[in-house]
Amino acid sequence: MRTVLCPGSFDPITLGHMDIIMRARDLFGHVLVGVGRNNQKKYLFGDQRIHLVREALAGVEGVDVEPIEGLLVDFCRAHGISSVIKGLRFGADFDFELQMAHMNRGLTGLETVLLPAAAEHVTLSSTILREVMKLGGDVDKYVPPNVARAIAAWRESTTG
Ligand code: ADP
Repeated sequence: MRTVLCPGSFDPITLGHMDIIMRARDLFGHVLVGVGRNNQKKYLFGDQRIHLVREALAGVEGVDVEPIEGLLVDFCRAHGISSVIKGLRFGADFDFELQMAHMNRGLTGLETVLLPAAAEHVTLSSTILREVMKLGGDVDKYVPPNVARAIAAWRESTTG
């Protein structure tokens, strides 16, 4: 059994993320989901993101969740992890991931595995989900049930 890191912003976690995490677990045996924390970024769900990821994956064997700050390669070295796994959706993902993969390999030899997104999630991103949410659209079918509840609470708090 090997551990692979599955990093991301998860703002919020979607069924697309869940699919990659579960397939990564089946391939490697153990997945550490790394929830990025970057002071330069403004997250809609802020510190709640990691709680939502933990809740969505509660009871799932072979999956752990930790926050990540700073360089991915430093986090991996500190945790004895030699590969990361990323979901690949469309062309823009590939261009970005290829650059990141080579940079990480150049820095410490960290390997990257790119897993094609499931057909049903190939166009789903947290970014588009947040945009639709903000305009009042119902995105429940794209997220785990606990995230749908958090979105309902967010809606309550913004509409008063
Ligand atoms: P997003 O790009 O949706 O805002 P993140 O920064 O949280 O998401 O992405 C973390 C990882 O999850 C990336 O490797 C990204 O490609 C992957 N990912 C995000 N959405 C999906 C999806 N619908 N299907 C497969 N992989 C996805």
